[in-house]
Amino acid sequence: MTVLDRFAMESTLAAQITDGPGGYSGVPGDEQWAAEIRRLATLRGATLLAHNYQLPAIQDVADHVGDSLALSRIAAEATEDTIVFCGVHFMAETAKILSPEKTVLIPDQRAGCSLADSITAAELQAWKDEYPEAVVVSYVNTTAAVKALTDICCTSSNAVEVVASIDPDRDVLFCPDQFLGAHVRRMTGRTNLHIWAGECHVHAAINGDELADQARSHPDAELFVHPECGCATSALYLAGEGAFPEDRVKILSTGGMLDQARKTNARQVLVATEIGMLHQLRRAAPDIDFQAVNDRASCTYMKMITPAAMLRCLVEGADEVHVDLETARLARRSVQRMIEIGQPGGGE
Ligand code: SF4
Repeated sequence: MTVLDRFAMESTLAAQITDGPGGYSGVPGDEQWAAEIRRLATLRGATLLAHNYQLPAIQDVADHVGDSLALSRIAAEATEDTIVFCGVHFMAETAKILSPEKTVLIPDQRAGCSLADSITAAELQAWKDEYPEAVVVSYVNTTAAVKALTDICCTSSNAVEVVASIDPDRDVLFCPDQFLGAHVRRMTGRTNLHIWAGECHVHAAINGDELADQARSHPDAELFVHPECGCATSALYLAGEGAFPEDRVKILSTGGMLDQARKTNARQVLVATEIGMLHQLRRAAPDIDFQAVNDRASCTYMKMITPAAMLRCLVEGADEVHVDLETARLARRSVQRMIEIGQPGGGE
């Protein structure tokens, strides 16, 4: 029996974990749990990363909280050999692509992403076969296999710049987010930009009528839209369409949202993104009334990373994320091309 096995056996909390269709449950995210998570992370030599859309208890126990690309970079630079990535599967894959020598764990590998699932590698290959001369641009919310078939990745904050860098005579295949694709087409005026009809079930719930209603009923509020977030791309599109008065719309990265929260004079701010972001904003500026544009904009996949799932992950060393070396090499190339072209922002 290893030291880790013995400590796991001594973890009485672990005996309470149950598994069900919505994920692992049975353990409250309280102080006892947080102390146990810290103890096991030290024992395992792991650094704990949490995405901004995670449950507050998960964000509070993590070593670092941020967006997906920022966390992947932290993972690559961490001195620890094991990374526990509390986010959805494509994000943990991106961390593995950028740190192939490290052990990357996700607390529940069933935590997928409806946007990343909008296009498979086989579907992208078939699309490429239709347009053999085209350049493929993929948003970072894609699987490693799709990134491996991609020429250049992009985030919402650099998507226009990435597409503008491509020879205007060449066709561009843009996937998977149709809202971001429409925004890029409008900004670049490109008629040879082909857009995949993918979307995220969370951002699909943030619609123009809701934004317009919120603008009317909160006349003094600002609106924060996160440009790197797949979930907010429809809001970004609608803001550009004039659904919300332009002078009150702030298109901001996660870090920019936190900075703006600290300096704004607004007493109320509406936030068009996944509701997990509200936790960081309220911590940064407790006097401001932050409200979700749509309080149902909660990602069920993100919320599969429960206190019980995180405990199981550290006790069992599971679920480990694997990306074969050739896929990782090709996927890394498309991410690196993006970084060479322009400031990528942080990813979702
Ligand atoms: S909110 Fe949407 S884009 Fe973000 S992880 Fe969830 S399903 Fe994917």
